[in-house]
Amino acid sequence: MKTCDLFKKKTVLSFEVFPPKRTDAVDTVYSTVAALKELAPDFISVTYGAGGGRATCDATLSIASAIKYEYGIESVAHLPCIGLTKEEATNQLERFKAAGIENILALRGDIPEGGAPSGDFAHASDLISFIRERYDFNLIAACYPEGHHESESVLADIHNLKIKTDAGATQLISQLFFDNDYFYRFLERCRLANIDVPIEAGIMPVANKKQIERMVTLCGVTLPKKFVATMTRYEDNPEALRDAAIAYAVDQIVDLIAQGVDGIHLYTMNNPYIARRIHEAVYRLL
Ligand code: FAD
Repeated sequence: MKTCDLFKKKTVLSFEVFPPKRTDAVDTVYSTVAALKELAPDFISVTYGAGGGRATCDATLSIASAIKYEYGIESVAHLPCIGLTKEEATNQLERFKAAGIENILALRGDIPEGGAPSGDFAHASDLISFIRERYDFNLIAACYPEGHHESESVLADIHNLKIKTDAGATQLISQLFFDNDYFYRFLERCRLANIDVPIEAGIMPVANKKQIERMVTLCGVTLPKKFVATMTRYEDNPEALRDAAIAYAVDQIVDLIAQGVDGIHLYTMNNPYIARRIHEAVYRLL
């Protein structure tokens, strides 16, 4: 099933999982998927380490395929194009197709330290056009409520986002954010720019301080005072911090659903316990 069709019926709930770093530990993700299945998500997406080579592709591919065919949940395979030649991209797409994957989150990937590796795609939009011209995959793209960190402004970033939807992206998933007002302003600007595909809000329950520091460094997202105060208050008490993070995420999701969001994409960090607690609090609202 093409996941873009799900939005016609309901507020979509999707989860994101990642392949474990050690290739011999891939099986551990299946217990996570089995637990997430009980929450009846509309789809589960699987990340893909940019520049990770064949083994990374294999892990994403086999997990996405198992989610769809063994667990009966629609899946999305992420595909970052940085460093890929057209031949390599074709090779990977053929393998996705042969495995029955129907949905791809087409990404550029982060530029590695020391400059971009040589590849045939400068932007995610180039990959989207490349796939659209050759294949029938449903194509999803990433978006950034506070602007992508390399972008000179949110508006410039939205201009580039429109290139992705014009190239064939049929739905968008946002980077995590902790202040819903950024998301609402972003939505308004997208609609003014005639970006009219469904936009899912990316929500990450941040359950430890290291994660917060990493997120801020990597994505440059704003941390509201309320968020910082909660995290600081409980930073030495892991269980309280986890409960506070769940409560914060639930608060964000309740507000987003009340405001008519197209969907919620939960960055599960492969933690089904947290996903379940959040699901229990919001599933009647979906
Ligand atoms: P692009 O859309 O190419 O944008 C990158 C920058 O280039 C932006 O500043 C944009 O404004 C600018 N730009 C875009 N198009 C043009 C153009 N035509 N002309 C000029 N400038 C342009 N990374 C991974 O490695 N693996 C993953 O699995 C993964 N999953 C992700 C899932 C989600 C939901 C999100 C939000 C991000 C994910 N990422 C992942 C991170 C992503 O790869 C990085 O954020 C990366 O820096 C940008 O990727 P993009 O696809 O948004 O790039």
